[in-house]
Amino acid sequence: MLKRVIKDETDHMDLEAGIWKSLVYSPPPEVDKPTYEITGPTEKYDCRDHCFARIAMKEGSPPYEDYYQRHPEKYEIDDENRKRAGKSAEKLVKKDPVNERLAVSGFSRSWIMSRPDYLKHKASMKLVPVGRVRQEKISPDPAQMTQKIKALGLHLGAGKVRIAKLDQKWVYSHKPIPEYGEPYHLDYPYVVCLAVPQNPYFVDSHTGLSSTWETGWTYSFATFISYAIADYIRALGWNARAIPTMNTPYLVSPLFADCGIGEDGRCGYTVTKEFGNNWRPGGIATDLPLVPDKPVDFGLQDFCEKCGICADTCPSGAIPNGGREIVRGYKKWHINADKCYTYWNTTGRPCGICQSVCPWNHINNWWHKGVRELAQRVPSLRTFFIKGDEIFYSKKPKPDPRWMAEKVDFTILEEKP
Ligand code: SF4
Ligand code: SF4
Repeated sequence: MLKRVIKDETDHMDLEAGIWKSLVYSPPPEVDKPTYEITGPTEKYDCRDHCFARIAMKEGSPPYEDYYQRHPEKYEIDDENRKRAGKSAEKLVKKDPVNERLAVSGFSRSWIMSRPDYLKHKASMKLVPVGRVRQEKISPDPAQMTQKIKALGLHLGAGKVRIAKLDQKWVYSHKPIPEYGEPYHLDYPYVVCLAVPQNPYFVDSHTGLSSTWETGWTYSFATFISYAIADYIRALGWNARAIPTMNTPYLVSPLFADCGIGEDGRCGYTVTKEFGNNWRPGGIATDLPLVPDKPVDFGLQDFCEKCGICADTCPSGAIPNGGREIVRGYKKWHINADKCYTYWNTTGRPCGICQSVCPWNHINNWWHKGVRELAQRVPSLRTFFIKGDEIFYSKKPKPDPRWMAEKVDFTILEEKP
């Protein structure tokens, strides 16, 4: 009996590695086709359209002129957001400079390691100080190597690691600044997809200090893990491009659905069975021969149809209450990213509400693991669980941890320009 339990525990997280194993009683069922729907010819996403990319352009610069000439409809909202972002962040920093800087500092490694010039640096085994490591290309057994890479990712702190066959239709068409307008090339057959969970207690502060910290820190952490695995693959003689979270060249949601990290949810994120949508992506694109994983179906499409908690609690109205729309040939719940980003700029901090309230995000105790199983296996119980979630789990923000929120006395010694 004990043997049987141990076997199941290791089977469902692929391997006996990592601190996030044992999250569910059974893995989400694998299927042949992902649960999103492609309705016609698909169009690639142009990364210059992303709200972060738009707001990063310097007023009057050639990219700025080019972009708003082609998209005059975006000028007004971007202009307002630029002004708003500066004002609200300044207000917060003025009020509490010590803690506000702490919250934002979590992002810094992710920003640095996402820069195109940083990405070009490749670790070389010639630099390893212990002995001389010969440069050679090693051809490992793909199935065994897949398991090893997954174990390494789990050991380093990812909650789920799966292998996607890279579908070029998810790769963005054009780059934003500083390489504005250049085409993306990501000519690799596979992506090692990492889902790195966030601390749910921190995200529960919604737009608080701890939620801001957790978002930035998980981005940085996922980025660091991605570089570590890419370095290992290159040491075997294969090509590997780390995917830092702020320099991601593809649409995460469909790619991660393709390999069964989870399913595309109403909230616009890939929702996992194990820790809902409360995670951030990392990845490594590579030509190392690996065995791709299948998509999964644990009933999320029907669950999201019935649920809508994220749409009801989203303060900006960015998450749709209604049905799916066709976007670039892909039928999905379409998030209005401009509304979401405007809200962030109004509060001066990122928002974690939709990552706090999803019923699939509850901590993995026996009760929640049991509910996950029933929600997957018995569709008629889903409405009952959703009602229960609305009644028993408050959607209000929780306070930041005291150590983070507590004020520190200070004096300003030097004003830097
Ligand atoms: S991050 Fe906040 S504003 Fe944006 S979609 Fe989620 S709940 Fe809405
Ligand atoms: S909150 Fe509900 S509707 Fe939104 S992603 Fe989670 S399950 Fe789907």
